[in-house]
Amino acid sequence: MKIILLLICSMLFINTHAIENREVLVIPGDNFTEKELVDLELNLRKYFLREFGVYLQMEVDPKVKLPKTLMNPSRTRYNATKVVKHFQTNSKIIQVVLLKRDIFTYRNGNKEWGILGQSLLDGNTCVVSTYRLRNKSNLWKLVLHEYIHTYFKYYHCPNDDPKCFMKDAKGHANLDKQKYLCPECVKKLKYEKINSNIFDRIVNFLW
Ligand SMILES: [Zn+2]
Ligand SMILES: [Zn+2]
Repeated sequence: MKIILLLICSMLFINTHAIENREVLVIPGDNFTEKELVDLELNLRKYFLREFGVYLQMEVDPKVKLPKTLMNPSRTRYNATKVVKHFQTNSKIIQVVLLKRDIFTYRNGNKEWGILGQSLLDGNTCVVSTYRLRNKSNLWKLVLHEYIHTYFKYYHCPNDDPKCFMKDAKGHANLDKQKYLCPECVKKLKYEKINSNIFDRIVNFLW
């Protein structure tokens, strides 16, 4: 009897611990509705469970006021790199700063280049903006893309597959087309454990 009970207990233990929990912290810098945040959470959770077998817990911080020093000189949009650096912490939990206002990075010298999101690969924080997102229901794909950069320290789809979530937008993002992680990205993310490979981290960071 004791043995059977012990067996049942250990089976229960295995079952409740079979699915890994992973936390992501969303930091809204603009007003997001309850519905927008719930849709984001449900879509991400569904995908993480299906693709990675991971239960994603999304926590949402209260809205934060971003300092003006994170903006461009004309105060029209946010410098994505500065935003990411401003929120970086030593925590292992991945943080996603969510904005509705525009973000940019510098390309070709000092030219401002509007972007959808940015991760510095190094650190625990990334930023996304819905400003340039034509179809707002694709927000979760955008968050997923930046999350993968940040969590796995993974660069872009090596096949440049237009249907792959990790395709480099190169200024022409079409998230409607993105349906999956291509087999090459899946292989690299799931089996080669990029996040623990220091060499890949350095290569990705220098890219
Ligand atoms: Zn891919
Ligand atoms: Zn990217």
